[in-house]
Amino acid sequence: MKNSRPNMIVLPGDGIGPEVIRETVRIVEWFARHRRFDCEMREEQFGVQSWYKTGRFMREGLMEELMEADVVLFGAMGGDGEHRAIPNEIRRGQGLLAVRKSMAVYANIRPVKAFAPLAKASPLRADLTEGVDMVVVRELTGGMYFGEPRGVETLPDGEKRGVNTHVYTTPEVRRIGRVAFELARKRRGQVTSVDKANVMESGMMWREEMEALQAKEFPDIKLNHLYVDNAAMQIVRNPRQFDVLVTDNLFGDILSDEASTIAGSLGMLPSASLSDPDEDGRRRGLYEPIHGSAPDIAGQGKANPIATILSFGMALELALDRKDDAKLLEDAVIAAVASGHRTPDIAEPGSTIVSTTAMADAVIAELDRMTR
Ligand code: NAD
Repeated sequence: MKNSRPNMIVLPGDGIGPEVIRETVRIVEWFARHRRFDCEMREEQFGVQSWYKTGRFMREGLMEELMEADVVLFGAMGGDGEHRAIPNEIRRGQGLLAVRKSMAVYANIRPVKAFAPLAKASPLRADLTEGVDMVVVRELTGGMYFGEPRGVETLPDGEKRGVNTHVYTTPEVRRIGRVAFELARKRRGQVTSVDKANVMESGMMWREEMEALQAKEFPDIKLNHLYVDNAAMQIVRNPRQFDVLVTDNLFGDILSDEASTIAGSLGMLPSASLSDPDEDGRRRGLYEPIHGSAPDIAGQGKANPIATILSFGMALELALDRKDDAKLLEDAVIAAVASGHRTPDIAEPGSTIVSTTAMADAVIAELDRMTR
């Protein structure tokens, strides 16, 4: 870390982003008041709303500042019909994918835990989800979302042709593989690599590289492979089989939304996206819930803030060296949902349906109680 006072840039974004970030900032402030957590925190505009107001997704110079921040805490971006209204070069040059690419945060870590009090909130049977504790490691700066060529062209006969390219190089596969194997070493020692090697050449290469990496550097870690279609089925059929699941950008995007059903809702899953360490050992980090801007519930006080609150928890552990505080926060979240306070997405018969703010109130009440 560059100086003793870490700096955090908060990007609320669009839709429910500002709602879940507002509550998470209250949690940050609780840690500042009660746990001597001293950080320089400031908020910046980013996203579709910013574009409507200023013609830019973010002000000039902000990207460079994000590169220097110890923590970037982000809500969500996106709006209805955005892809039609906003010029492609703005979306590509200043959007979320550009931020991830510029920050080189290629390792997206998405823990999926089945908290016991939410067993009945999951659409999956409790006997299947009980005890699930897995991590999806999604490659975040390559593959289909960045590959060239890409675009839509008009053919001579007036029809159109849309193209995206699924492309990886061996160093890209090795570096995300290392993140997964190293993580597995601190956990239960099992990596499942997910690809589509039966029909995609890039998948074949992905699989060969994962095998070579395991044999050379991680012989103590067990590696198995699944085709993505089978993986999608196994996640709901027998999720306890997974420890660390590593996959590419597109498959990771889809599979982790699916895996969120294990935790009860998309509104429960946090993430950390990390770069390689710099010469001071500091990794750039973007901390954000895995969900999007949820325009269908924005502005109604229905959004679950827990995914964003737990994303701050990941920053406490991974960027701020405060593992005990991260654990305290997770315990408070579990106690808050155990007390029956639920946003609509995780409600069940007998629970009290609460607003976004009241959900955060319940977490704060548990933090107070646990540290009394
Ligand atoms: P979404 O994740 O926004 O929502 C999917 C469903 O989950 C919706 O029904 C929504 O109401 C629900 N949901 C999401 N977060 C929730 C929460 N915290 N609490 C309760 N319910 C929640 O995905 P979408 O509807 O496909 O996309 C909406 C917009 O978000 C699009 O513009 C998309 O591009 C964008 N998006 C952004 C990100 C990001 O910023 N990281 C990620 C995914 C999608």
